Amino acid sequence: MDAATLPALTIHEARSLLDSRQVSSVDLTKAVLERIAQIEDRVKAFVTVTEDLAVEQAERADARIAKGDAAPLTGIPMQLKDNMATRGVATTCSSKMLENFVPPYDATVTQRLYDQSAVLVGKGNLDEFAMGSSTENSAFFPTRNPWDPERVPGGSSGGPAAAVAASECFYSLGSDTGGSIRQPASLCGVVGLKPTYGLVSRYGLVAFASSLDQIGPITKDVTDCALVMNAIAGHDPKDSTSLNIEAPDYTNALGRDLEGLRIGVPTEYFVKGMEPGVEDATRESIEILSQLGAEVVEMSLPHTSYALAVYYILAPSECSANLARYDGVKYGFSDREADTMWDALERTRGRGFGPEVKRRIMLGTYALSAGYYDAFYLKAQRVRTIIRREFENAFEGLDAIVSATSPTVAFELGAKTADPVQMYLSDVLTLPANIAGIPGMSVPAGMSDGLPVGLQVLGKALGEETIFRIAHALEQATEWHKMRASV
Ligand code: GLN
Repeated sequence: MDAATLPALTIHEARSLLDSRQVSSVDLTKAVLERIAQIEDRVKAFVTVTEDLAVEQAERADARIAKGDAAPLTGIPMQLKDNMATRGVATTCSSKMLENFVPPYDATVTQRLYDQSAVLVGKGNLDEFAMGSSTENSAFFPTRNPWDPERVPGGSSGGPAAAVAASECFYSLGSDTGGSIRQPASLCGVVGLKPTYGLVSRYGLVAFASSLDQIGPITKDVTDCALVMNAIAGHDPKDSTSLNIEAPDYTNALGRDLEGLRIGVPTEYFVKGMEPGVEDATRESIEILSQLGAEVVEMSLPHTSYALAVYYILAPSECSANLARYDGVKYGFSDREADTMWDALERTRGRGFGPEVKRRIMLGTYALSAGYYDAFYLKAQRVRTIIRREFENAFEGLDAIVSATSPTVAFELGAKTADPVQMYLSDVLTLPANIAGIPGMSVPAGMSDGLPVGLQVLGKALGEETIFRIAHALEQATEWHKMRASV
């Protein structure tokens, strides 16, 4: 097998080559590292490449395979978004605040992948502290879309989505607070799943907005997504929000038709400003779902238009509390020039955080302050309950809800940086799922002007299996997942 073709394989294709001893994990890992060396200048998907660690882990994976003891992800090279703790490997959140922070422990997701002898090739770039939709808020450099280097990969998990789309790793993990897995997956033409709130442990994920954050897989196809979910889902006593349930084998949901499923299409999700190419691809994909046997029904989620406002009160409020820990004392960047404690605190935070993070902290502290708390934070919590109930009611008669993932395809670098509200609108279709705590997947569903379009499949809480079933059926009926960016 030609080493140059290895990185473009899926996890399940690589697995059979590993298991039949046609390639070793060291072969795969070196091929991926070679690919990174060739194209990373143009993509910029990695904050750190862990070359030596990767080869060492690959050798250990090969020993395990030789013993006939391989797990589904053994020996497969992967990346992790750089807000997930990796012991001994810098975890920066793409922020100056944590530029030199090396965690003394592994996140639970890291540990679970290591338990399978997965191979870490590096850490993925993100919008600073996961705040953004284009990866342009990274304090280090923007990531570029592998389909067109003049365009953004989406965000905040832009590094992970771009790395998977450019075959710089077989899969990555992202985090999703308002769309940060699904929107970049959509813009880069790969699969991204935000699981039900609490299904994947967040122990070791740097907190942004704790009532919304979830970790999930970014992969080349739906089968790979199920394999990664099998590894990371399930109860973790170290995360108090972790659901105390046994996760199912998600691969059981694959390969079934859609007979008997009722799928809702909310009219409100064809938002004003949606690009015609995105709308066309979305409607064509929905038509395919009905040809595959699903009953497709038009329906309404009338409170959708409030979700953006609710999110941009709750997420900044929670972020302002979570980011209070960066005081220059406990860990991370510390400005030691100042004479007094207050000066040191001010200078540390003033220099350590970038403009978007500061904006969020100010919005959040304002919404939480005495006199404004009731008008903003409390009211947003009430509307959150209404949105959550609206989904619960809708799912009483439906198995899933589908829409476009993003109203636009990948936009040009710089196109939205001057106007935060335009940037916030990128997530108008994804953030309701975080507000309601329900799962959502973006699956490749077409092209518009040579750029990928994703279909979002939303399910009820813990309805991941239905999402996998629908996304896999659509994938198998189309060719989109076979397309690879030509970077
Ligand atoms: N783009 C949204 C924000 O900036 C969502 C980010 C995320 O999901 N981490 O908050």
